[in-house]
Amino acid sequence: MLKGIAASAGVATAKAYKLEQPVVVINKTTDVDAAKEIEKLDAAFEKTIKDIEGVKERAAKRLSEEELAVFDAHLMMANDPELIGQMRNMINTDGVNAEYAAAQVADMMVAMFESMDNDYFRERAADVKDVTFRLKCNLLGLEIPDLTAINEPSIIVAHDLTPSDTAQLNEYVKGFVTAIGGKTSHSAIMANSLEIPAVVGTTGILEAVNTGDVIGMDALDGEVFVNPDAETVERLAVKEKEYKEEKQALKVLINAKSVTVDGHEVELAGNIGNAKDAEQVIANGGEGVGLFRTEFLYMDNDHFPTEEEQFAVYKQVLETMKGKKVVVRTLDIGGDKKLSYFEFPEEMNPFLGYRAIRLCLDRKDIFKTQLRALCRASVYGKLCIMFPMIATVNEFKDAKAVFEECKAELIAEGTPVSDDIQIGMMVEIPAAAVLADEFSKYADFFSIGTNDLIQYSMAADRMSQKVSYLYQPYNPAILRLVNMTIQGAHKNGKWVGMCGAMAGEPNAVPILLGLGLDEFSMSATQILKARKVVNGLSYEQMQEMAQKCLSLDTAQEVLDFVQSEVK
Ligand code: PEP
Ligand code: MG
Repeated sequence: MLKGIAASAGVATAKAYKLEQPVVVINKTTDVDAAKEIEKLDAAFEKTIKDIEGVKERAAKRLSEEELAVFDAHLMMANDPELIGQMRNMINTDGVNAEYAAAQVADMMVAMFESMDNDYFRERAADVKDVTFRLKCNLLGLEIPDLTAINEPSIIVAHDLTPSDTAQLNEYVKGFVTAIGGKTSHSAIMANSLEIPAVVGTTGILEAVNTGDVIGMDALDGEVFVNPDAETVERLAVKEKEYKEEKQALKVLINAKSVTVDGHEVELAGNIGNAKDAEQVIANGGEGVGLFRTEFLYMDNDHFPTEEEQFAVYKQVLETMKGKKVVVRTLDIGGDKKLSYFEFPEEMNPFLGYRAIRLCLDRKDIFKTQLRALCRASVYGKLCIMFPMIATVNEFKDAKAVFEECKAELIAEGTPVSDDIQIGMMVEIPAAAVLADEFSKYADFFSIGTNDLIQYSMAADRMSQKVSYLYQPYNPAILRLVNMTIQGAHKNGKWVGMCGAMAGEPNAVPILLGLGLDEFSMSATQILKARKVVNGLSYEQMQEMAQKCLSLDTAQEVLDFVQSEVK
């Protein structure tokens, strides 16, 4: 069994199809017959265009116009007279072979696009790579695996999948396992929209698997079994069946309210990392976005995203959510989240150091770019902004003052800004939880970040395997901090959400509901299950149960008690 990251939920067992791209080796030859080489080049271009058209045609059976756009971009590139022109020129003037000219021009173009300060052009670099890889293979007579030709149930095993690879997956592909990648990599996002299971970041998978082996993949727990025994196959089959049945049964709740049997209503929202995720939140019946982790905009980049670039993304998310609430968290960088283009100071304890709001208040230039983009986007939906890692009331006041400054500047410039933006904060430092009744005089709302709140309360690094037993959401100490936060907010009539992983845990939902949590934000795929839980509970009973939980001694006692109370 190999462990990876569960990136798109599901369970499947099928034969492995190991995707192995040909290795391109380019040799330089001089004194060639230029006319012959140009003929070779033209033929290779022709075949490349035909190949892409073929792939597009087959992919069209499964994908939307929008998703097919990647192939149009590739066709445009392959038909671009500039590309072939430069290669022909090089053959003529330098007297080199077609493969060498193709590789040189491709490298130059990729380098040029990659150096541009603009997302659009950087994406074009990926297109050039994709198209010229095909071209070079055609020149060298190398076969590129055709994923659209897969005609028996298969699980694809690959180093990683490119956008054009994922666009080619047909109904026979039951899932894929990749060696690299994370939950937010392109292939993971695509797997979610195609609703096929994916396990990514599975170190060692390429060495362990050959085409034809049987793969059992559990993309709920991120486990991959190579040539599983009969017992495992049976266990996975049961799990797959249960997962599919549950998924189907939950669909009826997409448009249902999140309300208890005695009429207490809460809000179930989704956590997102990019604009595409917002569509998943809607597809899964989410009532809003409770956390937009904007740091991915910065981390998936080679420069600080500009105001314009950020504005486009925030606008898109707000429009996708069609007037439903969107809580955007300002830049939460530092700790384990680094940027390739920004040097953080060396610190003994980066998790306790220069990060998130601390950095933003120190680097107002970075902070203001984001807040201006948010203010400008605010007219396209219902925007809430929250600041991460707030420890003191003054930090919150200072951060809010920077927001007010940006808003005033924009209005003075004649740019419209919504007058209905809520300004809140994350509660993920115990000091903020303890003083919640004071913070709530100033903040419009709280969102409890239990991932960090637990790490700081237990003094247990959330990245450390050795102390992971201290991640105890059910520990009464944590429940009391959550309770204090909710009580503190309600005292001043403010609402409280939770966006840490605890909010989506089926056993935690009854306690949080009983403590009075107003909004639960989780990954999109957890929403319907949480709704089912909420719809089956009595608020009155959960209030009583939650109070009892606060008085227990250990996490295990809480969990046992909840499981005995909630059937
Ligand atoms: C949290 O700390 O609970 C949280 C939601 O933020 P992140 O996981 O991004 O630190
Ligand atoms: Mg956090």
